[in-house]
Amino acid sequence: MAGQSLKTALEGSLAIPLDDTALVNVDFHLHTTESDGKLSPAELARAVAAAGLDRFAVADHDTLAVYERHTAAFASMRARMVTGVEVSTNTGEREVHILGYGVPPDAPSLHEILCDRTAVRRGRAERIVELLRKAGVPITMDDVGRQAGNGMIGRPHIARALVDVKAARDISDAFDRYLGSGCAAYVPSSATTPAQAIRAINDSGGVSVLAHPTRNNAEELLDDLVRAGLMGIEAYSPSHTEHDTERLRILARKVGLVMSAGTDFHAPTEANPRPGVDVPAEDLAGFLKLIDAAPSRQR
Ligand code: AMP
Ligand code: ZN
Ligand code: FE
Ligand code: FE
Repeated sequence: MAGQSLKTALEGSLAIPLDDTALVNVDFHLHTTESDGKLSPAELARAVAAAGLDRFAVADHDTLAVYERHTAAFASMRARMVTGVEVSTNTGEREVHILGYGVPPDAPSLHEILCDRTAVRRGRAERIVELLRKAGVPITMDDVGRQAGNGMIGRPHIARALVDVKAARDISDAFDRYLGSGCAAYVPSSATTPAQAIRAINDSGGVSVLAHPTRNNAEELLDDLVRAGLMGIEAYSPSHTEHDTERLRILARKVGLVMSAGTDFHAPTEANPRPGVDVPAEDLAGFLKLIDAAPSRQR
């Protein structure tokens, strides 16, 4: 059954013969300069082509701008691409990221939760800068603006500005010292709850997936998220240990979630010079079936 749906999904869109034990190289979690990635959509498209990904999605934070403004950059790889977005949510003190796939870029339910994000994120950045200045760090919104360009402002931009003014050694130090949860300049990004994001994605016809489930112990919330309509979990990531992946596979089966895969690619790094993660084709079958039935993929 799994093998059959996989054949339909992958052979249909890629025209490659596939056996059930094959590995596929995919990445459903890529960022561009439309949020806090370092590569522009055109540069990311070149990186995707060079990596030879079988299937992929850009999933920028809180914006579908790539699918509204930059589809030409990905024109030669349309059949392998599915739309994506990573919605920032908060529940209590905890930050949870919900990915949405196959969503129509003009879906009203998504527009409703994303339309004010540019302004909300800018206001949040201003508040963070204010808190940093109170803590004695001489940083301005201009410093942050230079890092963010025209994209959605995120904490990585503020972190880069902190490194530039030598208030932090590197990005991770900036988060540890100032920007992370519990730090002096921490401000949550969103008043949206995970359940609201899941509903908006599902209502648009898309596929809702829990991002990086090992971060912030988001896994603990899984039962609640499934009750809210969650469809999948990012089981495969280069940041997972083998033990993590095995645990997530078992968990996914137990609670009836499909499995997706992504590197959360923001820029080429030493550890992850290119996008892509190898996944046993069989484990992706359920996810591929869902995204190929989603509105943005109907052909
Ligand atoms: P924001 O959406 O503005 O809250 O920023 C979230 C982004 O910050 C995530 O997508 C990560 O790329 C990055 N980030 C979060 N925590 C850390 C950390 N401890 N070190 C480096 N980057 C981080
Ligand atoms: Zn990011
Ligand atoms: Fe994330
Ligand atoms: Fe991400």
